[in-house]
Amino acid sequence: MIRINPHFQKLQASYLFSNIAQRVAAYQQANPDKPLIKMGIGDVTEPLPEVCRTAMKEAVDEMGTRDGFHGYGPEQGYAFLREAIAENEYQSRGCDIGADEIFVSDGSKCDSGNIQEIFGTDISVAVPDPVYPVYVDTNVMAGRTGRFVDGRFEGLTYLEATPDNGYTPELPEQPVDLIYLCFPNNPTGAVATKEQLQRWVDYARQHHAIILFDAAYQAFIQDDALPHSIFEIEGAKQCAIEFRSFSKNAGFTGTRCAFTVVPKDLVAYDPENNEVPVRQLWSRRHSTKFNGVSYPVQRAAAAIYSQAGKQQVQDLVQGYMANARQIRETMIELGYDCVGGDHAPYVWIRTGGNSWDFFDRLLNEAGVVCTPGAGFGKCGEGHIRLSAFNSAVKTGEALQRIREVLSR
Ligand code: PLP
Repeated sequence: MIRINPHFQKLQASYLFSNIAQRVAAYQQANPDKPLIKMGIGDVTEPLPEVCRTAMKEAVDEMGTRDGFHGYGPEQGYAFLREAIAENEYQSRGCDIGADEIFVSDGSKCDSGNIQEIFGTDISVAVPDPVYPVYVDTNVMAGRTGRFVDGRFEGLTYLEATPDNGYTPELPEQPVDLIYLCFPNNPTGAVATKEQLQRWVDYARQHHAIILFDAAYQAFIQDDALPHSIFEIEGAKQCAIEFRSFSKNAGFTGTRCAFTVVPKDLVAYDPENNEVPVRQLWSRRHSTKFNGVSYPVQRAAAAIYSQAGKQQVQDLVQGYMANARQIRETMIELGYDCVGGDHAPYVWIRTGGNSWDFFDRLLNEAGVVCTPGAGFGKCGEGHIRLSAFNSAVKTGEALQRIREVLSR
């Protein structure tokens, strides 16, 4: 008899977004004349840069010729893109990362979800709280957790990000083998300093652990002294994997292109405690289950490294960051403690009380949709997330409405 993977039954339904959708639908039905402004989303809103569209169109035309046709490409990604990434994202910041350590993919969501497959099922895993849910759910599916009790999965170590630690988790008290870190963070928008990341790298090396560093939002960092990559930290090549995406900086959420960096120096251990290069495992996994990102999309991604491309991406990022600053300043003026919004497109606002109540208040009184913090984990309660992914006009209008409601 065919059996299901029983671990899937431990997964919690995504109450967060379905619950938001239900409440939004009810509001719209009751208030058909009042336009809503959505500040809850993590999707970008502004159009794809011109350089990307041009490169994509040219690549499509090339595909229409016998000489320029591309069939299956290299699973790891075309050399032109991997070389541009290595040079522009890493070598230009002093990181010794080569094109052969870069794996191009169709998204950081897939990569950060799939990577756990190459590690043992009996390892201990640490995840942030609040958390990007992919890290948790993929480990649940793989059977690395127990039941969901009191808002948390048994068997996971939760790295709490709270007002007391400035929303940057402390090192775990008990040893862990796999550590998920995300900076700039989704949902809090908090960013880590070099010193903070150095402590994680030192910890990982001491415990023969691996850090999975999600840097999907690195382009939003405004201070050059802050690390954009874990590989700016001494020793990270021996203990870290990094996820990057073109989704948020270049508007590729619908176009799909990202990459993962697995350094050649990184090892994990077999049952006899022999070292095994992790890059070899990921390469095997990637080439077995993935057939590469389409040629036109990789050409579009590579275009952002041209001079014009860099400028167009900067313009997009700065547009969102102007919104982020406005959100943060307004909420601080209204008397709320905030984190994020200075180096990230998210502002994490400490509202106190029940985050769904605050969500309802903003929805019903201001016609603004936020994301209630409780949906991201236990430590998210008492907070909401406002997203800067919107036009300047809509952000300004939403903030005016929020100001009116919260000043009453
Ligand atoms: N990582 C984090 C922390 C995210 O917030 C998101 C998207 O919201 C992703 C990864 C997904 O990126 P991609 O569009 O490349 O799959």
